[in-house]
Amino acid sequence: MWSEAGPVYEPVPPLRGDAVADVVIIGGGFTGVSTAYHLIRRFPSLRIMILEARHLANGASGRNGGMMLNWINGVSYRDPHLTRRVYETTRAGIDGIVGMIQEHDLPVRHRRDGCLEVLTDARRAEAAHARVERLAGWGIPLQYLDGATLATRLGLRGAAGAVLDATEGQLNGVDLLRSLRPLLLAWGVALHEDTPVLRIQEGRTIELTTPGGVVRASAIVLATNGYTPRLGYFKTGIFPLHSHVIATEPLDPGVRAALGWGQVAGFSDDHDRIAYASMTPAGELVFGGGSNAAYAYLYGNQTSYPGSPGSAGPAFEAIRRRLVGYFPEAERVRIAHRWTGTLGITMSRICSMGVRGEHRNVYYALGYSGHGVTLGNLAGRVLCDIYAGDDARWQDLPFYMYPLGGVPPEPLRWLGYHAYTKLTGRSPRNAA
Ligand SMILES: Cc1cc2nc3c(=O)[nH]c(=O)nc-3n(C[C@H](O)[C@H](O)[C@H](O)COP(=O)(O)OP(=O)(O)OC[C@H]3O[C@@H](n4cnc5c(N)ncnc54)[C@H](O)[C@@H]3O)c2cc1C
Repeated sequence: MWSEAGPVYEPVPPLRGDAVADVVIIGGGFTGVSTAYHLIRRFPSLRIMILEARHLANGASGRNGGMMLNWINGVSYRDPHLTRRVYETTRAGIDGIVGMIQEHDLPVRHRRDGCLEVLTDARRAEAAHARVERLAGWGIPLQYLDGATLATRLGLRGAAGAVLDATEGQLNGVDLLRSLRPLLLAWGVALHEDTPVLRIQEGRTIELTTPGGVVRASAIVLATNGYTPRLGYFKTGIFPLHSHVIATEPLDPGVRAALGWGQVAGFSDDHDRIAYASMTPAGELVFGGGSNAAYAYLYGNQTSYPGSPGSAGPAFEAIRRRLVGYFPEAERVRIAHRWTGTLGITMSRICSMGVRGEHRNVYYALGYSGHGVTLGNLAGRVLCDIYAGDDARWQDLPFYMYPLGGVPPEPLRWLGYHAYTKLTGRSPRNAA
């Protein structure tokens, strides 16, 4: 859906023959491309190479719900200093995305008129209201909307209240990554699409095996989020979860008015199996989550959904029913798109960005747990500063070198996940 209405995309040729680089970035999503962007701007003569298994935006960055959100998932709102720090960091992350689009005049469909966190029962709505007031006292500008205001503003059924963050928005990730490609190539970044990294041999010089040749590099960046365990890294840190999404055809203003959708980019709700929706500038309503059916976990860390989207037919129907539950008028709307993407979830939901390895030359940023539109794009700044040895400004943030773990091995993981989600309707996690 996100790639429609854009220009036809021609992948650049795969790697053929051996090569040498200073930094090889594995993965062409938000994390990989933003890292290349910040590194090449800061170090114009650095030999940077991106190796992407299929094409830019093949992963979650091109298959998400589009919401540019504040906050680091998994962090609580208890400490005023930390709360302000996290909020200001992610808000600056969104400013950074929008600023980059403006600076380079990138043709990226996006909007920034706020997102809602919807509360579905009175007790949670009350607690959210109290949180908004507490955060206002700490200088964080959120707005609480009660159920009645929400009904007129968004036409939502079954909501008790909501928190509006006017600094959030919606982004077409495919537009962003594809429009950055010519810029990166012009600045001297080497890119090879259709080039999966098959094996990584660590050392002072790291050797990466691909089908077309071996690349030797002084440093690498794991920008592979939910796919990372398949490269042998973060096997107990990342839980790859498949998430299904549907989207309508562009809705004309009359239909949008009938739905009741107002001037807001999107919303997510407070259920553990979170439901979320966003509206593109052209009027396509994107909707995902809402029940166990919307998420799938495949045995053995599979990160490509087999036969997708056909094999997930019942899941898409369940998602459509959730959509209609929120917006009864959507019953009459045609679902034009269905897709599946791989989320990188951590047990605490906190993501991690840092460097590892005996030679401190394996950089990584992953596990955004549903907040990667903002955080994946922020990761490029963070990794660039860590690479430059100039990362003091990130060290107090929860994601900085955050130790990931707690995901059990197979077959315990398989059994545990399915038993837990079936019995509780929730998603397993460790306390942050
Ligand atoms: C359905 C869905 C809905 C979501 N909704 C939202 C949302 O509304 N808001 C939000 O903030 N976040 C959302 N997310 C999460 C967000 O999209 C991700 O956190 C973010 O895109 C991760 O970016 P990334 O670059 O780290 O990883 P990815 O975009 O997954 O990129 C990884 C890339 O690595 C490549 N790759 C994998 N293995 C190899 C290999 N061996 N060699 C070379 N390349 C390889 C893949 O092809 C892929 O292109 C959603 C995710 C999904 C799946």
